[in-house]
Amino acid sequence: MIPTLERWTTERSAELYGVSEWGAGFFGISPNGDLQVTAEPGNFTNAVSIPEIIAGIQARGLDMPVLLRIENLLETQISLLNTNFLTAIKSLNYKGSYLGAYPIKVNQQQQVVEAVTHHGKKYHHGLEAGSKAELIAAMGMHTDDESVLVCNGYKDEEFINLGLHATQLGYNCVLVIEMPGELPLIIERSKALGVKPILGVRVKLSSQANGLWAESGGDRSIFGLNAAQIVDIIDRLKDADMLDCLQLLHYHLGSQIPNIREIRNGVAEASRVYAGLVAEGAGMRYLDLGGGLAVDYDGTQTNFMSSRNYSVDEYCVDVVEGVMTVLDEQEVDHPIIITESGRALVAYYSMLLFNVLDTARFEPEPLPDSLPEDTYIHTQHLFETLQSLNLRNVQACFNDILYYRDEVRQAFNQGKITFRERALGEHVYWQTIRRIAALARELPAIPHEFEGIIQTLSDIYYCNFSVFQSLPDAWAIGQLFPIMPVHRLNEPPTREGFLADITCDCDGKIDRFIDRQGVKRTMPLHALREMEQYYLGAFLVGAYQETLGDLHNLLGDTNIVTVRIHEDGKFDFVGEMEGDTVEDVLSYVEYDTKALLTRFRETAEKAVRKGMITPNQRREILQAYKAGLQGYTYLEG
Ligand SMILES: *Cc1c(COP(=O)(O)O)cnc(C)c1O
Repeated sequence: MIPTLERWTTERSAELYGVSEWGAGFFGISPNGDLQVTAEPGNFTNAVSIPEIIAGIQARGLDMPVLLRIENLLETQISLLNTNFLTAIKSLNYKGSYLGAYPIKVNQQQQVVEAVTHHGKKYHHGLEAGSKAELIAAMGMHTDDESVLVCNGYKDEEFINLGLHATQLGYNCVLVIEMPGELPLIIERSKALGVKPILGVRVKLSSQANGLWAESGGDRSIFGLNAAQIVDIIDRLKDADMLDCLQLLHYHLGSQIPNIREIRNGVAEASRVYAGLVAEGAGMRYLDLGGGLAVDYDGTQTNFMSSRNYSVDEYCVDVVEGVMTVLDEQEVDHPIIITESGRALVAYYSMLLFNVLDTARFEPEPLPDSLPEDTYIHTQHLFETLQSLNLRNVQACFNDILYYRDEVRQAFNQGKITFRERALGEHVYWQTIRRIAALARELPAIPHEFEGIIQTLSDIYYCNFSVFQSLPDAWAIGQLFPIMPVHRLNEPPTREGFLADITCDCDGKIDRFIDRQGVKRTMPLHALREMEQYYLGAFLVGAYQETLGDLHNLLGDTNIVTVRIHEDGKFDFVGEMEGDTVEDVLSYVEYDTKALLTRFRETAEKAVRKGMITPNQRREILQAYKAGLQGYTYLEG
């Protein structure tokens, strides 16, 4: 465990949990040990305490877990991206301009899209739609004629018609051709409706990116057109006398690209393709780089998959410079640069807050000084190994005890020793593992195979949330999110543990945590106190997590609370959405809850008839059942 001899300070907590590294200036710790959030990065004079927000949420009758959104953080991120591009354009004397297009799929909630269209209006920040439903949402939200509405994704006739109608209404709606087969339909529908469409092509670049989501770029990408297909499209547009409609080149290397070099390579290659399209006579105006701008989830500023080795500022400068370098050389006019950053805009906006329900500690009884003479031989070997264990032979001892433990188990399975004898063997084994774990911590670097055993010995913190519903990427693809206590940060965390959720699934846990050296299997936590709640937060969860989640164990949507921070440090609750009730989630999986209740009434009546319960008891039981249907799917305080 962590030594507690020196006086603990909030600075040490900040260092331990990497708050300044991943927090992008939004998060800090107050002198009384509360995690705070500010709307003005780096300035904590008017920061708001997260435990105070929790108290406010609970006073309003909402239970944990809660997804907390801070409106200002989304607005700050929108401004940050746009102003950084504007600054880069100005300082490099770029002749084109920049337009953002927020990809709806990253967080489709109305509040989010509203914030982007409303707050983003001063930058003409537009939207990107990848499906009919997203386009319909976008057409209903979008009001700015100077921004773009980019339509990616495979398109049917209805999708194309909708896009053309948007053009009729004066939107800069770009239909991006993803498959060769879409073009004839687009030409036919445009002629039928008498609309001159704005068209784009999605190119499959040969530049590849690394990272968890990189498959969407590169030669083997399932999306986009190769060079021959694009040439074919040009020829067909020429034949239809519509080559001037082709105005946009789009590519998307993948999301969360940690390495700036890959971003630069993509920009350089795409700029050459852009110049090629201009040379062919297309009416080119826009170069759309897609998403990829990464979030530094672990705060290491490296090209590790959960980080990025560049700042937003460097990203913008490198993109603008990359486009200029190629196009100046080819003597091509500078295009309007579009990026479809989603993750970087919305990740900071939301945090998941939850309470710890209980903990389990691994603390086996101490062993006697010696074992009885007739102890099973391999248990004796285990005991001797424990006696001889030291820093130099840890590895050998570890291998030995695994062997002896298996011998003990086998002897039991073959009926050679009793259950009690087997228990003694395992007891010695676990005590030895404990010693090994303690010694391993003293080694300069903890060998990989010991990480697992250290984790087995650490505490389990049972937490009131579902990984599958609220942090799906942590489960599905091993994404790391910063997680930490939101209070008691002026006290030393004296325990090491990992988190288990309330699904009864062995994958329902979080045992990979951010660390300066890669990934940790446990995290420092405080011991629970009697009669006191302990709250943790998972941060930077605003991108992709909210609707990818599922109903594992029928745990539904959490309560959602939105807060706006004012300049004087006061805050308002500007939105609350109650999470799913049990009735809601049952109806999602096609239950007829009225029929359930009717059947349950009959069952209870039968029990009365058989004399198992009284009519009064039946009433109470039915009340409890009905209240359960109306209740939250998580544990209620
Ligand atoms: C998913 C996606 C994005 C968003 O990418 P981020 O890395 O989240 O910014 C942008 N464009 C397209 C085409 C996408 O599929």
